[in-house]
Amino acid sequence: QAKGGAKGTWQRYRPELHTAMNQRLEVRAALHDAIDAEQFRNMYQPIVDLHTGLIAGVEALVRWEHPTRGLLGPFHFIEVAEESGAIVAIGDWVLREALAQFARWRADDPDMSLKYVSVNVSARQFRTPGFVERVREALDAAGARPEWLLLEITESLVLRDAEQVWNDLRMLRALGVRIAIDDFGTGYSSLSYLRQMPVDVLKLDKSFIDDILTSDQQHTMVDSIVALARNLDLKVIAEGVEQTGQRAALAAMGCPFGQGYLFSKPAWPDEIVALTHSVPELV
Ligand code: C2E
Ligand code: MG
Ligand code: MG
Ligand code: MG
Repeated sequence: QAKGGAKGTWQRYRPELHTAMNQRLEVRAALHDAIDAEQFRNMYQPIVDLHTGLIAGVEALVRWEHPTRGLLGPFHFIEVAEESGAIVAIGDWVLREALAQFARWRADDPDMSLKYVSVNVSARQFRTPGFVERVREALDAAGARPEWLLLEITESLVLRDAEQVWNDLRMLRALGVRIAIDDFGTGYSSLSYLRQMPVDVLKLDKSFIDDILTSDQQHTMVDSIVALARNLDLKVIAEGVEQTGQRAALAAMGCPFGQGYLFSKPAWPDEIVALTHSVPELV
């Protein structure tokens, strides 16, 4: 018998669980060597200014070029990496590579519209002592300005361990690094709490955007969050924009930024350069 399932109930042994567990163990062991073997790659997805249509920034999204399984998305390894602690080293790599890439883009074209690169930070990575110092070192190593960096953290991280986390967030912001709450709306933070949070950007979760054209309720909800954010001087990035109608609705609400397949899927660095050179569609 094995412990598992909801509420820690005991379940009968099932072979498919055994396979899943073996796969996790395999991933865990292979992850250990993947950094030294240089098997991680960053893709980048544009974040678009809904007013001008220009690409304002990009989000770094890590991929694992697995020697036998091919290119793997985060779904296949991030959770295991969190459990094993490998996420700390992987996250450091993603951050350093993203800043180095951004510095290269800037060096190649100082006039480009790209203003920042956004990097996901896992809760475990953030809580590992010395995180702020490692961000500072990563900026130095890349010769990057703090304003070029947006760090994406989760709602639950801002809510838990408030004291230490908030202190670190304040230190990062004092450096000039900006902070976004990723997947905003999926957690439990109350809107009134937002006023006090040391953050700059809300990334409104895709689940809110999915239904804005079909549900009046969802439309009202997003409209209210966008208005509140504007009053609190927070920028909003709408995630998962897939349809022109969604984009138009968001623009009409005054939502400043969007990200999603409508604009581009995650892309390789040279593809991003090509996208920043294409003429923006009229809004
Ligand atoms: P996220 O940070 O919320 O990133 C957005 C995810 O949604 C990405 O999936 C992106 O490809 C996908 N996406 C973007 N636009 C659309 C759209 O219009 N429609 C749909 N259906 N999907 C869209 P991806 O790259 O598979 O990443 C999944 C998650 O993995 C990320 O969610 C993030 O939580 C995590 N992740 C990615 N890179 C890193 C990393 O370097 N460190 C950590 N800790 N987590 C990462
Ligand atoms: Mg993100
Ligand atoms: Mg997100
Ligand atoms: Mg998301």
